[in-house]
Amino acid sequence: MDLGSETLNALVKSLARLPGLGTKSALRVAMHLLRPESAEAERIAVLLSELKEKVRFCRSCGAITEAEQCAICTDPARSQDLICVVEEPQDMIVMERTRHYRGLYHVLHGVLSPVDGVGPDDLSLRTLESRVRDLKTRELIVATNPTVEGDATALYIARMVAPYGCTVTRLARGLPMGGTLEFVDDTTLARAIDRRETL
Ligand SMILES: [Zn+2]
Repeated sequence: MDLGSETLNALVKSLARLPGLGTKSALRVAMHLLRPESAEAERIAVLLSELKEKVRFCRSCGAITEAEQCAICTDPARSQDLICVVEEPQDMIVMERTRHYRGLYHVLHGVLSPVDGVGPDDLSLRTLESRVRDLKTRELIVATNPTVEGDATALYIARMVAPYGCTVTRLARGLPMGGTLEFVDDTTLARAIDRRETL
């Protein structure tokens, strides 16, 4: 599609590659940014340039932070012997919203998926293993999504940490099968935490 400007063409093409945005939405966003009265474009340009520079992943748990370690890892009030394993940083935000969990987290940044070529070394599993060993973790709550990949990842983790004598639990069934934590309401998630089952 030629919009009459190389820059605009390139912007729409880039935006269309973002998750959830197709060409149509990308075009709407670009046109909105282009409006003379919109100050959003400058603001977004600044934020995007700072994004890669300032925002990073916690070196212990993989959560989003602007420091070496995240606010949860450095909070002495959090139970140090309890780790909740999630797929993505946003799942951790959902868990926190329930105000029902007071332990640490571990973000895998994905799930095992042989079909997509994602193996154990592509996730932060080695770091998880050393944390379980060093923190003498009492319980590992695996909160990967209730999908085939999420379940397979949970089993892999259970086997991986078996030598350290740590209990591995899985969020209770009742979460929609094949769904993601992101779309579960707080009450259902809090209940699933309470009724977690040992693997
Ligand atoms: Zn952390």
